[in-house]
Amino acid sequence: LKVIESAEPSIQAFLHISKDEALAQADAFDKKHASGDTEGLPELAGVPIAIKDMIVTKGIETTAASKILEGWVPPYDATVITKIKAAGMPILGKTNLDEFAQGSSTEHSAYTTTHNPWDTERVPGGSGGGSASAVASFEAPVALGTDTGGSIRQPGALTGTVGVKPTYGGVSRFGAIAMASSLDQIGPVSRTVLDAALLHELIGGYDEHDSTSIPKPLPSIVKAAREGQKMDLKGVKVGLIKEISGEGFQPGVQARFDEALKALQNMGAEVVEVSCPHLSYALGAYYIIMPSEVSSNLARYDGMRYGLRVMPPTGTDQTAANMMAATREAGFGDEVKRRIILGTYALSAGYYDAWYGSAQKVRTLIIRDYENAFKQCDVLVSPTSPSTAFKFGEKMDDPLTMYLEDVATIPANLAGVPAMSIPAGLSDDGLPVGFQFFAPQMRDDLMYKPAAALE
Ligand code: GLN
Repeated sequence: LKVIESAEPSIQAFLHISKDEALAQADAFDKKHASGDTEGLPELAGVPIAIKDMIVTKGIETTAASKILEGWVPPYDATVITKIKAAGMPILGKTNLDEFAQGSSTEHSAYTTTHNPWDTERVPGGSGGGSASAVASFEAPVALGTDTGGSIRQPGALTGTVGVKPTYGGVSRFGAIAMASSLDQIGPVSRTVLDAALLHELIGGYDEHDSTSIPKPLPSIVKAAREGQKMDLKGVKVGLIKEISGEGFQPGVQARFDEALKALQNMGAEVVEVSCPHLSYALGAYYIIMPSEVSSNLARYDGMRYGLRVMPPTGTDQTAANMMAATREAGFGDEVKRRIILGTYALSAGYYDAWYGSAQKVRTLIIRDYENAFKQCDVLVSPTSPSTAFKFGEKMDDPLTMYLEDVATIPANLAGVPAMSIPAGLSDDGLPVGFQFFAPQMRDDLMYKPAAALE
């Protein structure tokens, strides 16, 4: 809490600091510990954690960085929060994000701008820039994020932290505010691969409250990370995805990626080149499927059920429809409105097959690309992000350039496969670079071994 106090004026990672709750949770844990009642507690017991404000926390205001949820205090905990509390991990507060997790720089937050601790003139990436900056600036040892198209991994790359998107269905989404439900996953943010593994194992597993949760035990993630720390990768086959690297990637990013690949080889891994020809269409498919789901999920913010209600201007009809329109006009920011309009259009009668239907077919081809690729290797690799951290305002006027930030991260969400970004040194501009691993569905353990070896 002292580090938070001194770092926050320049970083602004948090939307809400839950000091009293954190101290009470720490006290309760201390008492339990003093009484010797520690049986069954995980290794992370007692370690404080920061939570992206896209995850609901009972009794602590949760806004998704949107004005439309201002003042909303959830009456329940997300499943991951229940697990974190049971582990005696004090919750430090709620971290900043792009409104409803839509963006790649955290500049679309309705409340504040989060700064990158490596250079406070630059963005921390997004949408989970708050969690990434909190961990990178030592305000929190670990944090949780949500990843729909890269929002854990890209901020990880830009802040030199570890960020993991688990297998779709491997971590419960119950209590994660829905952005695009077929793509959303909650995952860990940390400074080391082993910390991420410990947190992943803690929050993961089947949950009957999430209809897409996979009713199978998680693989031994922590064991795989510990195995990797021995830095022996004999027998591990690494697939280099031809389609995501080279052109369009900043030279310093590409250079660090190539060096990391060499390091994997030096530890005994075999590197093969694989082709995933449909990955080039992933960005296009994502920006149809994601807004379609956004337009449907965000229909619930109607001024009736949660947070903000704005009455229609005096002199106009005081109908429910006008109240909804006034609330949504005032409550949503530009980027969220842009996506609701895009999604509504893509799903509309007469256009559905041409847009949404085609995008779903591309998605199937991408899933098959991964299935084929994983016949040739254990893990796939690519750079996480095409560039290092950029300056505030640089991409705000041009949504398409902002969308390109996710070119390497989106395919994993479309295919439901796990992926993680780990730090791979600094680019020529002195800023962190991320190295990305992908693994087959429900084999999250496979990426933890080479990741732990490489870090
Ligand atoms: N930056 C991506 C987007 O704007 C990813 C968002 C996310 O993963 N939540 O959609």
